[in-house]
Amino acid sequence: MVARWAGLDTRVPSRDMESCAQYLMTNVNVDQDAIYLHFGDNVAPGGYAWVFPKGGDSANIGLGTVALRAGGRNARQWLDDYVQNYFPTGIRVSYTVGGVIVHPTIKRTATDGLITVGDAAHMINPLSGGGIVNAMKAGRLAAEVGAAALAAGDVRSGTLQRYHDEWMKMLGDDHIRFHKLKDALSKFDDSFFDKLAKTVNGIAYEKRTLRRIFGSALMHHPTLLPVVAKYFV
Ligand SMILES: Cc1cc2nc3c(=O)[nH]c(=O)nc-3n(C[C@H](O)[C@H](O)[C@H](O)COP(=O)(O)OP(=O)(O)OC[C@H]3O[C@@H](n4cnc5c(N)ncnc54)[C@H](O)[C@@H]3O)c2cc1C
Repeated sequence: MVARWAGLDTRVPSRDMESCAQYLMTNVNVDQDAIYLHFGDNVAPGGYAWVFPKGGDSANIGLGTVALRAGGRNARQWLDDYVQNYFPTGIRVSYTVGGVIVHPTIKRTATDGLITVGDAAHMINPLSGGGIVNAMKAGRLAAEVGAAALAAGDVRSGTLQRYHDEWMKMLGDDHIRFHKLKDALSKFDDSFFDKLAKTVNGIAYEKRTLRRIFGSALMHHPTLLPVVAKYFV
């Protein structure tokens, strides 16, 4: 809202807004050295469910959905089903909910006397939905540029533009590519991803380098070629 009051365009297309809900749960029996990501239209349409172990028998268990694809059910309803199916004996300790913007960085992140950082500037990784580290990196950059501008007594838009340019170099340009990749991947259905997973499982665990995974996926599933092209073009 603050950025909008200052004239920056922070609108989010609805297809790029994930509705997320998460429980901190105990009495959950998962490998504490792994994270679990669970994809599928019957689990979290347009997003994924996650289990992030927190030590002992506790874990953050949550999911994100795209409302347009979620059949009129909100994220909490999807999460309650997920927990009921996969962690029926888990005990809910706390609850977090929020929107995650999976959209590239806004076109202008700074204007006269104002720098926007993190979610306010759509700096979340559009493919993973992770935004904590990005917000911290942008925060540090904003502090550096802001402090220099204040010391020089010039906080005009042109001076603060360095923040935007450096952010785009740091992560913003990658996010544009990740966003294209996300859009292209969203055209495939669950059965395609199941086949893809079977292909990857066909590679011996110790031989599973990224290069081999990509090579094998492209060889067995040529429909992926335009998707990969989107990432590089
Ligand atoms: C359920 C859920 C799970 C998530 N899990 C992960 C994860 O595992 N990993 C990850 O990387 N990301 C995750 N994210 C995304 C992550 O939380 C955000 O990307 C990140 O918190 C963004 O940080 P931020 O500082 O930009 O914004 P926020 O964390 O939203 O902080 C903004 C702060 O500004 C305050 N504020 C707003 N307006 C004003 C005002 N006018 N005056 C003063 N204060 C104001 C707000 O109260 C808030 O405290 C998750 C999001 C959700 C919803």
